[in-house]
Amino acid sequence: MIKAIYPGSFDPVTLGHIDIIRRASRAVDNLIIGVLINRDKHPLFTVEERVDMLRESTREFPNVTVETFTGRTVDFARDRGANIIIRGLRAVTDFEVEMQMAQTNRILDPNIDTMFFTTSPRYAYLSSTIVKEVAHYEGTNINKFVNPYVAARLREKLSQGQL
Ligand code: ADP
Repeated sequence: MIKAIYPGSFDPVTLGHIDIIRRASRAVDNLIIGVLINRDKHPLFTVEERVDMLRESTREFPNVTVETFTGRTVDFARDRGANIIIRGLRAVTDFEVEMQMAQTNRILDPNIDTMFFTTSPRYAYLSSTIVKEVAHYEGTNINKFVNPYVAARLREKLSQGQL
């Protein structure tokens, strides 16, 4: 039984994240998406909203669940009985910081390994930050970046003056 966690901010979940989730869910038996509650960052969406969007976006994957966590990723993995951490790699710019995190996590717990999925080329440029910028400046034209449910939540934020 291979159990993995996929940690991140998901503010909001993009089609790039979904692509990683789809592929990772085929490689493991159970995939737990961990939404990090990080008080240092100022997310656009509350943690409840981020979880809701992820649940809506991952309905089609029966072995995927969504949870929140605080603190260290390795502790979250261990608590859930998972020994794999999934991360996505876009460009070389991701590589250095991801490598550092993976090495650190391995020192913290040698039983937990990081598994990387390289982005599908069509999502290589995509990040939650880019999505928020495009949503802000172009309003409605975000369907290439996020699914319709997330697009609607972004439009709500825009109309509430929060984006
Ligand atoms: P974090 O704040 O932990 O980087 P993110 O939500 O930005 O959280 O990203 C979570 C994970 O998803 C990271 O491993 C990131 O590299 C990966 N990721 C984000 N966008 C993409 C994408 N377009 N293609 C592949 N992986 C991605």
